[in-house]
Amino acid sequence: MSISRHVKQMMQESSWIRKMFEQGILLKKQHGQDKVFDFSLGNPIMEPPPEFVRALEKVVHDTTTGMHRYMPNAGYMTTRAVVAERLAAETGLPFTAHHVLMSCGAGGGLNVILKTLLDPGDEVAIFEPYFPEYPFYVSNASGTTVVVPTTENFELDLEALDRRITARTKVVLYNSPNNPTGVVYSEESLRELGALLDRKQRELGRSIYLISDDPYKRIVYGGARVLPVFDFYRNGIEVYSHSKDLGLAGERIGFVAVHPEADDLDDVVAGMTLSNRILGFINAPAMMQHVLREIADVTVDIDAYERKRDLLYGALVDMGYEVVAPGGAFYLFPKTLLEDDVEFVNQLQQRLVLTVPGRGFGRPGHMRISYCVDDATIEKALPIFEQVAREFVSA
Ligand code: PLP
Repeated sequence: MSISRHVKQMMQESSWIRKMFEQGILLKKQHGQDKVFDFSLGNPIMEPPPEFVRALEKVVHDTTTGMHRYMPNAGYMTTRAVVAERLAAETGLPFTAHHVLMSCGAGGGLNVILKTLLDPGDEVAIFEPYFPEYPFYVSNASGTTVVVPTTENFELDLEALDRRITARTKVVLYNSPNNPTGVVYSEESLRELGALLDRKQRELGRSIYLISDDPYKRIVYGGARVLPVFDFYRNGIEVYSHSKDLGLAGERIGFVAVHPEADDLDDVVAGMTLSNRILGFINAPAMMQHVLREIADVTVDIDAYERKRDLLYGALVDMGYEVVAPGGAFYLFPKTLLEDDVEFVNQLQQRLVLTVPGRGFGRPGHMRISYCVDDATIEKALPIFEQVAREFVSA
C-alpha cells in the first residue's frame, strides 16, 4: 500500500458530511440541480457583505511595498491589534496583539493550538454530538480524543465530564452555538464548566486549557449573547473564523486568542507561532488580514438565517419531528423518525432531500439539517419532509 495505514483508516472513517455532499453532486447530475434539495453541507449561502468587497478593492489597488510578502508567522501586528481591541472591549481584559494569532480559519487555528499543547497521548475532551473533524485534528497532534455525552437536549453534562477528566486531560474543547445542534450553552452551565475545570486543575496539579471553538459566535438569534470563554475561565482560548459570519469560508481567515493571564502565556503564544509555521500554514492570508482591519464589526445579514430557522423549525415541529430549538448557527438536529438514522436519511435521499445521519457526529438516531440554503430550497423540501413524516410517524 503506498499511502499510510493511518490515512487509509481515516479515509474510511471520513466524514458522512462529505459522503452526502458527493452523493448530492451525483444526484444533481442525474435529476437536475433544482430537483435535489441539499441540506448536507455548512457552506454559507450568504455572499460577503458590500463592505468586504469595498475593502478588498482598496487592498487590490494599494501599491504599498511588501503588501503580499512573508510576515511574522502570527500575522500582522496591526490586524492582531484590531482583534485585540475588540476582545478587550468585549471582556474588559487587557488584550493586546501579543495574545492574538491570525489563523487559516478555525480549522487552522485548532490544529495550531492542539499541536502546541499536546504531548503524545494527552487527552482532549469533546462533547457529543461534535463537529466530525475534531478527532482528526486531535490525532494530527498525536492526542487522544475522549468523547463526553451531553443531555437529551444537548446541554453540557458536567457530571459526565467530571468522570472523564484524567491525569492526561490537557484540553477541553466546546463549540457554542453548536454544530450540529444549534444549541447555545447557557451562561450558568458555562460558569459551572469553568468552576469544574478550576477544581480539576487544583486536584491534578496541572493546567487544563479550555478551547472555545467560536465560528458561529456572531450567528445567534433573538438577541442572545454568547458568553466569551475569557469571562469564566483563565486558561481559556478562543478560536474564531470569518468563514460563516462574513461568508469567507474559501478565503481561510480567522484567529486564535489566549487569555492574557493564562498559564505559561508566553510559551503558548510562541509555540502557536511556531506551529503555524511548521504545520505549513506559514501565516494567515495577507490580503484577508489587510481587509479585516477595515471591517472588524461587519457581518452578513444574521436575520436572514434567523428567518430560515423559523421557517424550517416551525414546519418540522408541526409535522411531528422532535427538534431542539436552535439558538444560533444554521443547523437543526432532529430525531429521525426511524431508529436507524442512516436508513431514515436514505429514505429522504431517495426523495432527493439530503441530510447527514447523526452518527456522523457521534449521536445516532438524529440527522443534521443545514439550513444555509436559499429559501426556495427550504420551501420546496418541506412537502417531502411532511410526506416522510406522515409515512413514518404513524409507522
Ligand atoms: N468548527 C466548527 C464547529 C465548524 O462547524 C467549522 C466549519 O464548519 C469549523 C470549525 C471550521 O471552520 P473554518 O472554515 O474556519 O476552518
